Amino acid sequence: MIPADTPFWLAFLMVAAAMTVIVALRYFLASGLFAWVTARFRPGLYGGLNQQISREIRWSLIAALIYGAPAGIVFWLWRHHDWSLLYVDWDAYPLWYLPLSAFIYLFVQDSWFYWSHRAMHHYPALFRAAHAVHHESKPPTAWAAMSFHPLESLSGAIVVPLLVFVVPIHLAMLGIVLLVATIMGVINHLGWELLPHRFIHSRLGRWVISASHHERHHEEYRCNFGLYFRFWDRVCGTDRGLSNRLVPPAKAKT
Ligand SMILES: [Zn+2]
Ligand SMILES: [Zn+2]
Repeated sequence: MIPADTPFWLAFLMVAAAMTVIVALRYFLASGLFAWVTARFRPGLYGGLNQQISREIRWSLIAALIYGAPAGIVFWLWRHHDWSLLYVDWDAYPLWYLPLSAFIYLFVQDSWFYWSHRAMHHYPALFRAAHAVHHESKPPTAWAAMSFHPLESLSGAIVVPLLVFVVPIHLAMLGIVLLVATIMGVINHLGWELLPHRFIHSRLGRWVISASHHERHHEEYRCNFGLYFRFWDRVCGTDRGLSNRLVPPAKAKT
């Protein structure tokens, strides 16, 4: 670890750089894996999109820097100063709190994303400045998971680092939250429905976002603003169901 007498600015740079590398590797691993799965099961789906994919990777690497810096600072504050409500002792809170804490993190992230995303589509100037980059992916690919303008990345990057000072969470649960965020970010941009149709039409599936739901956002822009759950879209009447291109039209209404 970093020696205790390291100047603050140097420690900050080191942890931010290390976390950026971790976020970038996580991106290459997850997007690379699902791009490979896509090539195997939907050969040719990303055909002719090489230029777009290069752009998606470039923006995603800039996003890795913006996601990595605050995450690195929080990690450093936690390890060296014991700041934050992150904990590793399994007995610190009741067991039932473990899944609840993960759900709270996902729900808060989802709520922040829904409303900020909706605002970016509501105000044209905000859309052009912060969100147009993400919609340059037509249709999105597995590499678009982190393809955001730095302003949008910044908006997404601060939620979890702030939450760890407000809502206690076990380190393992935080790992699960980050895993869900990574995997859903990729599979929602795949361009084909990976989840079984039976699940996406099930009672639970109708509350969870999948590729065919987010694809419809990329097709129509003014609907389906959520990140993980369809809760806010359903409550606010912005849920238009699934993409007809990805699931058979007869089943696309749910
Ligand atoms: Zn998207
Ligand atoms: Zn959008």
